[in-house]
Amino acid sequence: MRAWPASEVPALPGKGRDLRIFDTSTQGLVTLDPGSVARLYVCGITPYDATHMGHAATYNAFDLVQRVWLDTQRQVHYVQNVTDVDDPLLERAKRDGERWEDLAERETALFREDMIALRMLPPREYVGAVEAIPEIIPMVERLREVGATYELDGDIYFSVAADPHFGEVSGLDTATMRALSAERGGDPERPGKKNPLDPLLWVAAREGEPHWDGGSLGPGRPGWHIECVAIAVNRLGMGFDIQGGGSDLAFPHHEMGASHAQALHGEYPFARTYVHAGMVGLDGEKMSKSQGNLVLVSQLRRDGVDPAAIRLALLAHHYRTDWDWTDALLDEAVTRLARWRAAVSRPDGPPAQPVVDAVREALAHDLDSPAALVAVDAWATEQAERGGDDEGAPGVVSRTVDALLGVAL
Ligand code: ZN
Repeated sequence: MRAWPASEVPALPGKGRDLRIFDTSTQGLVTLDPGSVARLYVCGITPYDATHMGHAATYNAFDLVQRVWLDTQRQVHYVQNVTDVDDPLLERAKRDGERWEDLAERETALFREDMIALRMLPPREYVGAVEAIPEIIPMVERLREVGATYELDGDIYFSVAADPHFGEVSGLDTATMRALSAERGGDPERPGKKNPLDPLLWVAAREGEPHWDGGSLGPGRPGWHIECVAIAVNRLGMGFDIQGGGSDLAFPHHEMGASHAQALHGEYPFARTYVHAGMVGLDGEKMSKSQGNLVLVSQLRRDGVDPAAIRLALLAHHYRTDWDWTDALLDEAVTRLARWRAAVSRPDGPPAQPVVDAVREALAHDLDSPAALVAVDAWATEQAERGGDDEGAPGVVSRTVDALLGVAL
């Protein structure tokens, strides 16, 4: 699948900082040592509706990860998927009397436009579930060979008992896992399962639903977790640096994905760290399609909002916190953007290197983007109130904001 074009990332003076980030599985900060090519997998969208602020906040967090790594002169091998066949997509297409392929293609195209507008760096590989089916089938067959699967009325389940590390990604107790499984696409109540938490690897063909020739698996379609495992492991290998997504993916999606991969390869871990972004709400409710309270990036763009202001509104929150979108936040971001643009529009100003250092330091410390904004704010205030005679400083600050925060001034 085609990704989207990258915006230029300017090089900055001085040295980038190594990233320390909060790992869900160990519940602590980890200093990553990714080598010359850092490896990142972020779970992509299920394209049945437009990009809302919750998605944008998640991709913003992992865009910062990329930018911190690029600033340390590393290359980044970033892979993202598109779940372009799954229950919610099929249900929406059926409800609207539309072909599911058309819905997926349209919403994926809109997502690309949103990502370009927000200056999110693209993944090196952008892979759809449908195009990954030929990779997924042999993986399910191998899991069957190692005894990690069982069949129920033609459906193939993964047995969580096959992975001794099951439960270590999310660290949740069984009752919580069971409740979340029911909420988030699992089927813990289905009779005949060995463990209520066991997820589907291969869904046998159902009347009126798309299916593919699964070879020895029979006609059907892949489960959600194995899709990401195939796409990630076949491109990044085991033990890649970060598996990322929204906090609602920690369980079951990332837990199951890790267990699939670990049972398959007999190796541990699937990813070295599991990083999760907080949820964005509106009026005290989680922003989600099912709640019908979405603030859409594309709608704001149609309303004439500068995407750079949307990005600044996202950056004003630490990625791990849950927060609410409000109109006042957007107003603040618009004001900040105007102040920053005015401050960099002069030929000289206060020294820039302290700002470069402060933004680097803030982001390297668990992507503390609010602290990065404070540093740029302080420079802009100094520029507005007293100015400075450092020639070229505004250009350096502008390139810093572009390279590390993804905002073009
Ligand atoms: Zn995923």
